[in-house]
Amino acid sequence: MKAAVLYEVRQPLKIEDLEMPEVHDEDVLIKVISCGVCHTDLKVIEGRNRFTPPTILGHEVAGTVDAIGAQCRDFKVGDRVIVGMRYKCGRCRYCLSAHENLCERRPPPPNLKKKDGTVVTRWNVGGFAQYVAVPAYMAFKIPDAISMEEASVVGCRVTTAYNAVKHRGKLQPNESALVIGCGGIGLNTIQFLKCFGAYPIIAVDIAEDKLAAAKSFGATHTINASAEDPVKAVIKLTDGGVDKAFEAIGNGKTADQIIQATRPGGTATIIGGLGSGPFTISSGNFVTKEITITGVSSRQANDVEEVFQMAQQGRIELKSLITQSYRYEQINEALHDLEHGKLRMGISLWNE
Ligand SMILES: [Zn+2]
Ligand SMILES: [Zn+2]
Repeated sequence: MKAAVLYEVRQPLKIEDLEMPEVHDEDVLIKVISCGVCHTDLKVIEGRNRFTPPTILGHEVAGTVDAIGAQCRDFKVGDRVIVGMRYKCGRCRYCLSAHENLCERRPPPPNLKKKDGTVVTRWNVGGFAQYVAVPAYMAFKIPDAISMEEASVVGCRVTTAYNAVKHRGKLQPNESALVIGCGGIGLNTIQFLKCFGAYPIIAVDIAEDKLAAAKSFGATHTINASAEDPVKAVIKLTDGGVDKAFEAIGNGKTADQIIQATRPGGTATIIGGLGSGPFTISSGNFVTKEITITGVSSRQANDVEEVFQMAQQGRIELKSLITQSYRYEQINEALHDLEHGKLRMGISLWNE
């Protein structure tokens, strides 16, 4: 099978021939149709997330079940599925309390092999490949009305935004909300805020086209941060700050801005990964304002089916999130376009 292999930090991926994945007893073998191209993949390429080279990136997989392991009872050949959860140990305190997203003993995915015997690791899922084998607990059926392309991004960015609004921000109807960063995650955060009854929904970005997209996904107010200070503007607009603020970039400065723009008793949720380095909170007043600062790690298992239901019911929009698709040979072009802000969300196609 073909797969895109990363050998070194900041180098293009190489399309190579690999042996087919082994299918263990609990596994489903998925013929990958679509795999989303996510900022997390870029972070690995840039060396901000650790990996063992050579490795295969890609984690927003949608495809058809091609084979099942001897003990797999949940799927049959031909089922349309996404990979919606990550590997888990199943026994740590987080796994046992339905917080597998925080698993502290996450097993590494089984390796793959090139035709010459060279071992190739998989980063997280290893979805930039024509086939992927994962334990059945990681796979979820795609409702008939939803296309493979739309479904693939549900496996990461759409459901991460849902987790942020529902579980981390714990948004209540009529609460005021702020989202800084109107890329794929930000737009999804905005559309879930709308579904959950937030008002106003203030979107901040530095690009006018992204602010226009934010409006179409449900933002009631927009602020261009290149023209005015977003913290001052939000505090003025809401008379003291928002109840729930979300950072959807993964940048220390904007993470600080959402904390400063949150009203006393509110919650600032940082969705974008900040990495392990330090970041500065410009005022310690969040302490006496009793502001909760929290983060987000992927999603809880029920989130995937809840989001699929909302998409089927027409309450959220998936189709217009995906602005470009690429054949697998164009994977480096897809990553380049993502890096340069040319995509709302992009997908790569592995078996056409
Ligand atoms: Zn665990
Ligand atoms: Zn992702």
